[in-house]
Amino acid sequence: MTDGHQSGRDAVVIGGGLAGITAALALADAGVRVTLLEGRPRLGGLAFSFQRGQLTVDNGQHVYLRCCTAYRWFLDRIEGTALAPLQDRLDVPVVDVDKPEGRRLGRLRRDALPVPLHLGRSLATYPHLSLADRAKVGRAALALKGLDLADPDLDSQDFGSWLTAHGQSARAVEALWDLVGVATLNAVAGDASLGLAAMVFKTGLLSDPGAADIGWAHVPLGELHDRLARKALDSAGVRTEVRTRVTSISTDENGAWTVQVPGETLRADAVVLAVPQREAHDLLPEGALDAPENLLRIGTAPILNVHVVYDRKVLEKPFFAALGTPVQWVFDRTDASGLREGQYLALSQSAAQDEIDEPVAVLRERYLPELERLLPGTRGAEVTDFFVTRERTATFDPAPGVGRLRPGARTRAPGLYLAGAWTATGWPATMESAVRSGVSAADAALSALGRPRPSHLFDVEEAA
Ligand SMILES: Cc1cc2nc3c(=O)[nH]c(=O)nc-3n(C[C@H](O)[C@H](O)[C@H](O)COP(=O)(O)OP(=O)(O)OC[C@H]3O[C@@H](n4cnc5c(N)ncnc54)[C@H](O)[C@@H]3O)c2cc1C
Repeated sequence: MTDGHQSGRDAVVIGGGLAGITAALALADAGVRVTLLEGRPRLGGLAFSFQRGQLTVDNGQHVYLRCCTAYRWFLDRIEGTALAPLQDRLDVPVVDVDKPEGRRLGRLRRDALPVPLHLGRSLATYPHLSLADRAKVGRAALALKGLDLADPDLDSQDFGSWLTAHGQSARAVEALWDLVGVATLNAVAGDASLGLAAMVFKTGLLSDPGAADIGWAHVPLGELHDRLARKALDSAGVRTEVRTRVTSISTDENGAWTVQVPGETLRADAVVLAVPQREAHDLLPEGALDAPENLLRIGTAPILNVHVVYDRKVLEKPFFAALGTPVQWVFDRTDASGLREGQYLALSQSAAQDEIDEPVAVLRERYLPELERLLPGTRGAEVTDFFVTRERTATFDPAPGVGRLRPGARTRAPGLYLAGAWTATGWPATMESAVRSGVSAADAALSALGRPRPSHLFDVEEAA
């Protein structure tokens, strides 16, 4: 691009996570010549796979919901939909091991009734809540449904206090609200912004009956976010460079952008900065944001995954959630990982601040006995592999007040746009948020470049 730069045609996207891949595809589909630069040796950012001997391992279990329309658009665009199917109907087995009588299985499921009755039957028979709690959950759900997501006050309150004020007992928070909320927000209710929590629960559980049906990759994440994404980028004509870390961006006297990577200077009419908030802060040219220091005030939150391979099958279901134990969600990763014998389980532990730095031996001592309580079949089984993956900055911290720190796609610097799950999409740090941000950045760039938006591009509603 250094030589062939033609005004109005060239864009550089920095960061090959889902936000950057999306922005690159959207811009290329509109006829813009795009270069995508990624510092690591692969695309996919925070949602990736690696090899461990024969095993293909995801850095962390990822799920999405039917209401994640942007991520579903993305899957479609990379021709990956069939590889990450959705459940026909929401069905979450929830095992409680903290009962005098031993293990107890409950289910969160929906039936064919309209919202909110679609969850009514399941809640009415949910054994992990008392009758009184079940009735109060229904009332809180209706109150949540009535919240206006556009009200900025919601972001300054915490979800836990709101739940208490709406009659939710500690048990209801643990067995229902946090069961879903910790996995989707990456914080317990008391630490989470009411605005983000309301967004998740309203959209997922209280909008459309099928909204919370769960989907997940039946192949390694890298197959989708690296291989298929790369294939789609190649066919769209995007020049993709991995192992290429951007060191600075600036404008020249004509307002054209210069992007510096080791050994090359790229020129562009538009730049999309789709890197994490701290990296964005460090690369942003002066004056690009009114309050760039806000980016550094957006905290981060860790997710730990505990991986256990058994010599035999110990779990019949594809996944379940757990109560009365430190174990949160357990997924069967056997087929996706390529394991031929035995079973490979991944435990997804969100809001893992207290455990993220624990040595593997400590985590092994803690989690293997818990799995024995949850899954009796593990008791006679041999553990053939045990390891952990730690993502210290898995998501932005969804704390109250975070909403006002998240910038939109446009900056004050003409031709420079921001993307990333942490930008102002209205969503918590999810794949959905990342894809939405990429679409918003591409939309803003296309309108400034005077180019029509491709008709198949996902439509982003204005963030709350
Ligand atoms: C363990 C774990 C579990 C998760 N579970 C879920 C889940 O179940 N469901 C869900 O929806 N979401 C989940 N998430 C969140 C989801 O993965 C992220 O929100 C999303 O992938 C973020 O995408 P992004 O493109 O915004 O950012 P990133 O993925 O962070 O991408 C940014 C990219 O920029 C690159 N980069 C940085 N600096 C430079 C530079 N100077 N030059 C070039 N490149 C640079 C980085 O290498 C990176 O590839 C999970 C995350 C983790 C870690």
